[in-house]
Amino acid sequence: MTNFDMTRRTLLAGAATLTATSAFAKAPMTNKPTPGFHRFKLGAFEVTVISDGPLVMGPPNGDTFTGLTKEDLTQDLTRNHLPTSSVELDQNTLVVNTGKQLVLFDTGTGAGSKAFGPYSGRLIANLRAAGIHPAAIDGVILTHAHADHCFGLMTDRGARNFPNAKIYMTENEFSFWTDESKAGINDMMKMMVAGARKNLVPNRDRMAFVKDGEEVAPGIMAISTPGHTVGHTSYGIQSQGQKLINIGDVAHHHIVSLEKPKLPFAFDTDGAQGVATRLKMWNMLASERIPMVAYHFPFPGVGYVGKQGDAYRYFPALMRTVL
Ligand SMILES: [Zn+2]
Repeated sequence: MTNFDMTRRTLLAGAATLTATSAFAKAPMTNKPTPGFHRFKLGAFEVTVISDGPLVMGPPNGDTFTGLTKEDLTQDLTRNHLPTSSVELDQNTLVVNTGKQLVLFDTGTGAGSKAFGPYSGRLIANLRAAGIHPAAIDGVILTHAHADHCFGLMTDRGARNFPNAKIYMTENEFSFWTDESKAGINDMMKMMVAGARKNLVPNRDRMAFVKDGEEVAPGIMAISTPGHTVGHTSYGIQSQGQKLINIGDVAHHHIVSLEKPKLPFAFDTDGAQGVATRLKMWNMLASERIPMVAYHFPFPGVGYVGKQGDAYRYFPALMRTVL
């Protein structure tokens, strides 16, 4: 008899006893997703990772990471107990309450479109679940203007999801993705440019352009990390000596982007520059032992990077705080 059988027999015996002494009642299934938020303190700041829901990328193929065959990617996924039917990424937006300002980093895909799979577009629902009212957000900081980062600025009907927020992004990022001449490149660019225009152009009057090294709010500093897009920007968040870096899309996959950091990602505007930026970021995070939040890593995407041989490894961090 195996241990499993013994356990099962014990459980069955227990169930028989319970049936004899208590009445069971049917309860309806909730059929509601788990609220996706994770809160911790960073010095005097309160930080809440808010999930926009998983992003379903479709079956692994030879284009997901440039230079990685479908077979090799499938093998990497299998080896790490990840689904092989579709490459799935999470979407970790971030709210930082500095005590004076309430800042949201990135806005997810927006609730209306299911072009990114059935699970995305949950930011607003999860914000409310976390006790944060969208109207209370003072600033929305965009790491970049891809669909899964800025399409949640506006509702489908063209209203602002964050009516009281100033929008922060780099000027070259705004110019690139709102340039209608880029829409003709292919269908993907057509979708990206149309959505960026819909979400960014109506907010132009409340937008502030950010420069490398600029302090957007006390304790929140822009770090230029181009490559994935032209104006992609990470943010250093610091309070009372504690640090966290929001790396946005410097990396996309918690296994592949660490073990094979020199592979460009499918949607990089400049893959070679993206690789150089990633290596620089990994080396800095590893040597200085600074925690990061990575937008697309498994929720909540908070953790450390360490060197491992010629490559790197991701160490998820619990960041537990008694609040
Ligand atoms: Zn992204």
